[in-house]
Formats: sequence, C-alpha cells, structure tokens
Amino acid sequence: ESIVLSDLAQKMAVKVREVIKALMKMGELVRESDTIDQMTAALVIEEFGHNFIAVSDTQLEDDLQVAVDEKSGNIQTRPPVVTIMGHVDHGKTSLLDKIRATKVASGEAGGITQHIGAYHVTTDRGVITFLDTPGHAAFTAMRSRGAQATDIVVLVVAADDGMMPQTEEAIDHARAAGTPLIVAINKMDKDTADPDRVINELSVKEVIPEEWGGDTPMVKVSAKSGMGIDELLEVISIQAELMELEAPVDGAAQGVVIESRLDKGRGAVASLLVKKGTLNQGDLVLAGEYYGKVRAMTDENGQRIKTAGPSIPVEILGLPEAPAAGSEFLVVSDEKKAREVADFRAARERDRILERQNKMRLDTLFDSMNSTEVATLNIILKTDVRGSLEALLGALDELSTDEVKVRVISSGVGAITESDVILAESSEAVLLGFNVRADNAGKKKADAAGLDIRYYSVIYGLIDDVKAAMSGMLAPEH
Ligand code: GDP
Repeated sequence: ESIVLSDLAQKMAVKVREVIKALMKMGELVRESDTIDQMTAALVIEEFGHNFIAVSDTQLEDDLQVAVDEKSGNIQTRPPVVTIMGHVDHGKTSLLDKIRATKVASGEAGGITQHIGAYHVTTDRGVITFLDTPGHAAFTAMRSRGAQATDIVVLVVAADDGMMPQTEEAIDHARAAGTPLIVAINKMDKDTADPDRVINELSVKEVIPEEWGGDTPMVKVSAKSGMGIDELLEVISIQAELMELEAPVDGAAQGVVIESRLDKGRGAVASLLVKKGTLNQGDLVLAGEYYGKVRAMTDENGQRIKTAGPSIPVEILGLPEAPAAGSEFLVVSDEKKAREVADFRAARERDRILERQNKMRLDTLFDSMNSTEVATLNIILKTDVRGSLEALLGALDELSTDEVKVRVISSGVGAITESDVILAESSEAVLLGFNVRADNAGKKKADAAGLDIRYYSVIYGLIDDVKAAMSGMLAPEH
C-alpha cells in the first residue's frame, strides 16, 4: 500500500508543503506528486498527531523493505550475499571455514575471527559475503520475516552421499525464494566420491548442470583439501555479475538483522547486514522494535570500523535489546520518530503474542476435549541467540501430527532458570537447551524435581529427539 503525497496531505487536512517539510526532516526528498510507502506514511501521520492504522502487518513489512529504495545517487555494484545450504554433514561448515581461512586471513591480517553471522572475502573478481549460519532453518526464519537477505544459494552435496532429504528441502527453499542455486559437489577428495551420481540425482529434481543444457553451475570441491574453492568463488562472482546486483552507497543505511544476543558485559549485540547506504558509527538505528545510537562497530575480524557499505556485515553495540533475526533495520535522523515507530512495532508485537496465546488456549481446550486421541508434547526451549530460537520454533512448529501435537509453551534466549523448571514441572513439559545450560538455581531445582534437561548444539539433533519423544508417546501404554 502506498499513497500519493498530496492525497495524504489532503486526508490530514494540512498543506502539502508541511508534509514535504516533515519528510525532509526524516531525510526523504519528495515532491507533491510522489508516492510514499505505508511505513513512511505512518511516520508522517504520527508526526502530525494522528493515529496510524496499518492496513495489514505483512503489508507494513513489505513496505519497510522497499522504504528508502528510492533514495537516489551513487548506485554501485554491490557484493553478492551467499547462504550455504545442504544436508547435515555434507560439509557446509567445513566449506565456510575453508573459504574464510583461505581468503580472509591473507588480506586482513591481525584480526581474530569472530562469529558475527556473516563474513566477506575478497577475490580477484570482487567481494563475496557469506552468511555463516548455514542451513535452511535460518534461511526460512529470515524469509518468514520478509528479509530477503540472500542473493545466491550454494547447495552443498557430498559426493560420497548424494541427494538427501535436506538437499531436496534446500532446493525447494531456494526455488520458493526465487534465489539462484550453485551446486558445490563436496568431499571430492574421498575415494568413494561419485559426482556423476550426484548430478544424476539432482537432475531428477530438475537441477540441471550447464553442460547438460541446464542453468545450474556445478563445481567439484573439497572443503578438506581446498580443491575447487577458487573456482566456486569465481562461479559465484560470475552469477552475481549476471544478476547485476546494485545498491546506493550514499545515504542512510538500511538492511537486515542477521543475528542478535544479549551479552552480559556489553548489552545487546546485533549483527547487521547493510543492504543500502552506509552505516556509520554514531548513527541512530531503528531495528525491529528497538532503537539506539551505534556506539561501536566491529567487523568479522574483531576490528573496530567506522563505516560499512552495502552487503557488508557488522556487529554493533548500542541497541537496548536484541532485535529478532530477520528484522529490518534502518537509520533514522530523528530520535522521536524512532521511538514512535519502535513503540508502534512493540504494540504490534504484543498483539501478535496475545493472538498466539489465545490460539494456544483454544488448542488446549480442544486437546482436553479429545484427550483420549490427541497427545501433546509440551516443550520449554531456551537458546543462545534469537536466530536459532526462531529457527527452532519454526522447525518444531512443523512437527505436529494428527496424533501428537508439539507445543512450545515457553521459549526465550538465555540460560534455563528456576522459573523455567517450575513451569516445566507444572505443565509436564520437557526442557530443551540449545547452546545454553541451566544456571545454578535452575539445575538445583531440576535435580530436586527429578526433571531431565536436555542440551543440544545441533538443530537436527534436537528435532530428532523431539520426533523420537513424539513416537514414544504413541507407543501403547502399560
Ligand atoms: P555440515 O553439517 O554440513 O556443516 O558438515 P560439516 O562441515 O560439519 O562436515 C561434516 C563432516 O564431513 C566433518 O567430519 C568434516 O570434517 C567432513 N568433511 C567436510 N568436508 C569434507 C571434504 O571435503 N572431504 C572430506 N574428506 N571430509 C569432509
């Protein structure tokens, strides 16, 4: 939804000139006949003391994505952003590590590798940015928030294993997102490597190599020996050139939150991927429901930096809380405005949570009515970062069957606490920790209550266990 500026002014019964002035203060140069998106309109409407009622949440998110799009000037080629996907154990992490080790270390010496959710490498053909949370869950979680952060998907398939369920899933996800695929046939160093089999299997899913008249580049690599890595990077760059990826370099930055967490000493730490414009230290950033001045910025080598342009990932300090992964961020010029939008979004988020809770109550009612048929597996889930929390919630959501419902009754970022355990006890829930442990009080309470807490560091490990628990619930009772 968008609106012509003069119409908006008329609706608010103010002079167009006033609206233009308000927009200028926000850093938007517009004319009377210009159309502005809903998000911007919301800011203006609230600026003039009116209440803004969103047409729909999704619309608002969509508009956010295109907001600031029109910002003119100094459009330049930007690096591609790549996500690596593929079946578990096919070498996603190894490939990311190898690329990073071979390419980053040489150029930017002196830094210490930091995990900030993404990194970029410099090749002869240009810069490439990799999101380093591999896997579909993260990709899907981002996409479900409307964040189209990935330009290219590299699908890793182990040459000794071939097409597997998550390989197929990755293909489906990439297709659904309209993101071009490049296949990396990995583990070519192994005696048992059979790349032709991989290619054959892929072609069944209509992923056809260029040699066969298809449009999917396929590169044989080994994350172990480093074979084919340069070729893979070159193929990524060629694909990027074909896509003519561009972004304005000047102007207020806009982009997406790729990861965030609360750090005991430093407060909220958020990794941002700039999509447009340039982010500067000191900028006022609005990310999801939070805003704050960028106190410090570091790159993926732990080096302090002052600016970051399109497709460049940075870690920032200065937000009051950790915004959700996949949230859009943008730099705003006016603190009051930032607060208004943040409040507006917080209210919207509260509504969503309420809605979810109400729905849950209905489910509960339904379950108790059918208690003889439907079993429910209650789960309390704690994770280290919001990204994995959302990824896991998404994955758990899909597990429910007609016989067994999976219900996450509580979830959050941080250690498993006493109150989590109490809740688990009272609601007969299982306690799951992903990359977090129980704190002392939580552990004591769990011991006392005789409750088992399960810890995981691999998404699929957790999912598999939940599946196993579900089938256990189906077993005949004695
Ligand atoms: P992911 O689950 O897809 O992230 O896979 P990992 O990167 O964790 O790799 C799974 C296993 O395969 C590890 O034991 C790796 O050492 C091994 N691996 C990954 N790439 C290669 C490769 O190119 N050659 C060989 N021989 N082993 C590999």
